[in-house]
Amino acid sequence: MQLLAVSKTKPITAIEEAIAAGQFAFGENYVQEGVEKVQHFSSHQQADSLSWHFIGPIQSNKTRLIAEHFDWVHSIDRAKIARRLSEQRPADMPPLNVLLQINTSSEASKSGIAFEDLEALADEIAAMPNLVLRGLMSIPERADDYDSQYAAFKSLADAKEKLQAKHPQLDTLSMGMSGDMEAAIAAGSTIVRIGTAIFGARDYSNKQ
Ligand SMILES: *Cc1c(COP(=O)(O)O)cnc(C)c1O
Repeated sequence: MQLLAVSKTKPITAIEEAIAAGQFAFGENYVQEGVEKVQHFSSHQQADSLSWHFIGPIQSNKTRLIAEHFDWVHSIDRAKIARRLSEQRPADMPPLNVLLQINTSSEASKSGIAFEDLEALADEIAAMPNLVLRGLMSIPERADDYDSQYAAFKSLADAKEKLQAKHPQLDTLSMGMSGDMEAAIAAGSTIVRIGTAIFGARDYSNKQ
C-alpha cells in the first residue's frame, strides 16, 4: 500500500521536510499551486523519485497543465476530460496514470460518477492512447462510524473487482483519508491520501 501525502495549501518547506523523511508521492488539488510545486521540485536532487498526483476537481481549461506536469490523476469523472488529457499528454512523457472517481454515496451533490455508469466510461477511457486506466477512487460521504466507512469502501473494492474481468490491468484503489484510513485499508485500499494527519490542519484563507 502506498501513502500519498496530500500537500495542498502547504508550503514548499513542508514538502522538503517530507522528502527528507523518505516520502516521495504527493497529492495536490489546485492546478496552479500544484504545477508550481512540480516545477520547483523538478530540479530537486531526488526529482526522479518523486511522483505527483492530481486529486482535485478538473475544469476542462486546466487539463493541459495537468497533462504536462502530473504522473497520476485520481479525479476523472467524464470522458471529455480524459480525452483532453490524452490528447495533451506530451509525447516525451510516459502515459498518464488515471483513476475514475466514483460517488459511493447516493447524494447527487457529491462529485464522481454513479456505479451504473462505470463500465461504459472505463471502456472508453481504456482505449485512449496516452492514458493508462489504473483503477478507482472515491471520497465517501463523511461518516463517523467504522461500519459505514467500511461499507462505502467495500462497495468501491467490489466494483473494481468486477471491472477487472474486462480490464485486468486495474491494480489501484485510491481510498482513505486522515479520518477514515483504517476502514479503507481493511477494505483493500492501495493508496491512502493523507493530508491533515501528516501536515496538520490546513489554512484555506488564501483560497477563494
Ligand atoms: C484534501 C484531500 C485529502 C486529504 O484529506 P485529509 O483529511 O487532510 O487527510 C484526500 N483526498 C482528497 C481528494 C482531498 O481533497
